[in-house]
Amino acid sequence: MGMAGSGKTTLVQRLNLELNAKGTKSYYVNLDPAVKSVPFAANIDIRDTVNYKEVMKQYELGPNGAIMTSLNLFATRFDQVLTILEKRAPELEYILVDTPGQIEVFTWSASGAIITEALATSFPTILVYIVDTPRTASPTTFMSNMLYACSILYKTRLPIVLTFNKIDILSHAFAQEWMGDFEKFQEGLDRQGEDMGYMSTLIRSMSLVLDEFYKTLRNVGVSAASGEGVSEFFK
Ligand code: GDP
Ligand code: MG
Repeated sequence: MGMAGSGKTTLVQRLNLELNAKGTKSYYVNLDPAVKSVPFAANIDIRDTVNYKEVMKQYELGPNGAIMTSLNLFATRFDQVLTILEKRAPELEYILVDTPGQIEVFTWSASGAIITEALATSFPTILVYIVDTPRTASPTTFMSNMLYACSILYKTRLPIVLTFNKIDILSHAFAQEWMGDFEKFQEGLDRQGEDMGYMSTLIRSMSLVLDEFYKTLRNVGVSAASGEGVSEFFK
């Protein structure tokens, strides 16, 4: 999971490459109905079951509504997906699931909850929350992203790995520093300069609250593009 463009699909592609190279048996599920081409070998693809363009036409929906409806239609048949996964599971090391581009389609929808819970009751499930590191370098966007991760953790109650992606562009060291020491985060906020008034006060007090959340969180930096950090990711 992660914001649109954070690199979910590229990371699945990277993991697909690495696992294939190591000969580790794994299985891939694509849940994005609107993706043009899937760059990894998807064993199960939502696009084989629902035609997003057709859904748009038939239900007279815009792009977002059609993605949502496609996922809802797919969720009604997710028991069949589970049956397939359960049959395969004994010979598999990993099942990797890529979620739709827009994060809210999955995290704030009934179908996303149904699919997540179905997976979590059948398999040991880990959530990978992907952060676009270069685009989260300002304290305010960083805070928004962390609040999102925090809300997903409490909503799903699943173990979560905070994954800072695109470290080929910008190292995630600043993020680790902010997570480890809230005074450093506040210094970053001071450096941001502009007087944000209420916003700044809100973020300052929230960073104290999030401090507890950070303590329970594992994090790692990767580059889905270059493969850097992927072995740490698996660890
Ligand atoms: P998704 O919407 O979360 O599935 O994001 P995508 O995997 O489609 O990636 C969005 C964009 O970010 C694409 O242009 C990718 O090539 C790019 N991207 C993804 N991972 C990385 C990375 O590790 N480094 C760099 N530089 N670009 C990346
Ligand atoms: Mg994607």
